[in-house]
Amino acid sequence: MPRHSDKPKPVSVYVRCRPRNTNEKNTGSPSIIQCSKKEVVVKQHNTNLNKKYTFDHVYGPESSQVDVYKGVAQSAIEEVLQGYNCTVFAYGQTGTGKTYTMEGDRSVGSNLPWEKDPKIGLIPRCMSHMFDRLNSQASDFSVRLSMLELYNEELFDLLSTTDSNTTKLRLFEDSTRKVTGSRGIGSVVIQGLEEVQVMNKDEVYQVMERAMQKRRTAETLLNAHSSRSHVVFTVTVHIKSVTQDDIGECEEEVFKMGKFNLVDLAGSENIGRSGALNARAREAGNINQSLLTLGRVITALVDRAPHIPYRESKLTRLLQDSLGGRTQTSIIATISPAACNLEETLSTLDYANRAK
Ligand code: ADP
Ligand code: MG
Repeated sequence: MPRHSDKPKPVSVYVRCRPRNTNEKNTGSPSIIQCSKKEVVVKQHNTNLNKKYTFDHVYGPESSQVDVYKGVAQSAIEEVLQGYNCTVFAYGQTGTGKTYTMEGDRSVGSNLPWEKDPKIGLIPRCMSHMFDRLNSQASDFSVRLSMLELYNEELFDLLSTTDSNTTKLRLFEDSTRKVTGSRGIGSVVIQGLEEVQVMNKDEVYQVMERAMQKRRTAETLLNAHSSRSHVVFTVTVHIKSVTQDDIGECEEEVFKMGKFNLVDLAGSENIGRSGALNARAREAGNINQSLLTLGRVITALVDRAPHIPYRESKLTRLLQDSLGGRTQTSIIATISPAACNLEETLSTLDYANRAK
């Protein structure tokens, strides 16, 4: 793969390995993953398997939510506040910790306020930090959230206040509104999508809980499985600040708009090790166009290909103003440490490896 060291890396790739779960322990499935700072080693003695991968950072089973937040997302918030768009994806087999990483859990039986709970994930941590930063600046700002679910190449609003759990949204591009640093790509508009203005951290948390409740309802109605849908959480921040010119006389108003997308992807179990759909999934008609196209878009960005196939899926169309160009994109590949998940783990690590 060509490397262009003069330009910033288009995509940062991280791996997170969760602890062994009860089922893996009860069935005696041993751990075959060793994690160190930037390396993952997959080692199985009975098969002589010994494979080493290198990434921007590797988070082992002992890593905390705050470690992952600081290493992966904190710097992106500064970019967003400067008026750029950033995206973080969680990619991996169902059950490996994508939702845990993005949203997190609440500690059972503790009365901790959500902000102090060690188990909260990237989204609430990012929002909390963003409000701290905004409140410390002497500027006007507004923060809007949207949260949508993409299932079977159709978009559903998780924040809509109407009862219509099944209302499909339409997506189009507004070529008259160019996005900062995004190679002239117009901004993406989703017709009818609810954008909720939030004034403080607690409102963020309330909005998220409402969205999750709605997702569960939609799941029953559509008979969908959360493992097959993508959830895209987007925060858009508008900042108006007043700056003075060089000699401190003339005041000038400066407007900035930044966008941060945090994406909990569908389970990767249908994607084979080559990055294409595996045979079993093809037979079952389980084609996740968005997940396949995302792989191609990321490869094209990493290779700095002249054509990026954004238009080939809903997810990549939706995110095209936040992928490539002057934007920061990160992928967290989540894996299980247990031998019983070996094939999926190798598949995830190969996918992540291609995105470097
Ligand atoms: P996914 O969204 O990839 O399907 P989940 O995030 O739902 O997976 O995780 C599956 C289970 O494993 C959940 O019960 C979650 O709390 C737990 N889990 C995932 N990652 C971790 C982790 N790093 N530490 C502790 N528990 C985890
Ligand atoms: Mg999940």
